[in-house]
Amino acid sequence: MSEQKSLFDELPPPPSYSEIHGAPSTADAQNPTEPSAPPVHLMENYEGYGELRNEPVEPPPYTPPAGPHIPPIPVDQQRPATEEEAREALLELISTKCCWSVRPARELVITDLVGKSITHYSLQSWTEIRATSWDSEPYTGDHVDWCPPNQAPPNPWEVPVHVPSAFSQLERSVRVPRTESVKLCFKCNGIGRQPCWNCRGSSHIRCNFCHGRGRERRDRMNSSHNNFTSCRFCNGSGSQACFTCNGSGNILCKTCRGFGKIKCFIKLTITWKTHLDNHIDLPLVPENLIKQAAGVVVVQDERDRVTPIDYSRGGVTEASRKFVNQHATSWPLELIRRQKQVVRVIRVTECKYVWDGNQGTFYVIGDEMKAYCSDYPKKCFCSCSIL
Ligand SMILES: [Zn+2]
Ligand SMILES: [Zn+2]
Ligand SMILES: [Zn+2]
Repeated sequence: MSEQKSLFDELPPPPSYSEIHGAPSTADAQNPTEPSAPPVHLMENYEGYGELRNEPVEPPPYTPPAGPHIPPIPVDQQRPATEEEAREALLELISTKCCWSVRPARELVITDLVGKSITHYSLQSWTEIRATSWDSEPYTGDHVDWCPPNQAPPNPWEVPVHVPSAFSQLERSVRVPRTESVKLCFKCNGIGRQPCWNCRGSSHIRCNFCHGRGRERRDRMNSSHNNFTSCRFCNGSGSQACFTCNGSGNILCKTCRGFGKIKCFIKLTITWKTHLDNHIDLPLVPENLIKQAAGVVVVQDERDRVTPIDYSRGGVTEASRKFVNQHATSWPLELIRRQKQVVRVIRVTECKYVWDGNQGTFYVIGDEMKAYCSDYPKKCFCSCSIL
């Protein structure tokens, strides 16, 4: 096919903004982050602060006050689900499964209903971590909280911090009192400007359109030697003025924002988190179904430090002793602020059935009577994939 091209068609289409200037987001991403933490060797040494490398500081020893013994609430014998309740729970489960046939649930014959009680014990420890590091901000001439002579800043664990409500997951930073000082900016040596990171101070960068070659093709389809002309954007020089520094070769120092001086201080970062351990005595159904199920709370004990529970059922005494001891020693760099231990009893009915000559079992869990069945017959009768 021969087609006469017009002169207009001969020239390649003009480049887009990002071809010439580079994509702004990419340009920003190349900008090295300006550290606001001054170099450690330039800074003061304060007792109790170590190397200030944002690592957790060991908390002081803590002796909890003796707490009261919490007696468990007696639980009445829980009745198993009735046949009607069990079948209703199974039908409810099937309604949530796109490819489980409803027929077996309607037709199956329930042969036995056995009530069981599952004991769930959990221990939560809410801890606080304190880490210290140097930080700085541009110094604009405002007040400085210097450390007076012959005095020291408070120990990291003595710095007053507003403690949030127990068991919240949070991180907060505060400035340690009496640790401020003013220094010449370590990044620009007090000049307020620093060499442009993009052109490395040369004020020019490679032409983005011709990639520094200084020439472009007249016709993109033609690779012959005489098809080239000077790049229309750099006039053949192969370089263009740096758009980051507007061709000046230097940019404002981000560490001191051009003020030349910085105010240094110790930043204390406080993190609160929760550690959780669970013990479930009977592995009849998946653990998460028991954790989510409503049951009877027989012990609920929340205070600064709990002591192991004595409860005769479900191996709770042993689990409580094990978890309380583990939590007391597992995180030496965290201070336990609050602990909560709960014992719950969840009723589970084991339902045995026969359908189409085959035997099977399903379970009805908790006060909300939620069914669980791992061997339900006639799943996926429609040959779709089970999700
Ligand atoms: Zn060019
Ligand atoms: Zn530049
Ligand atoms: Zn600076």
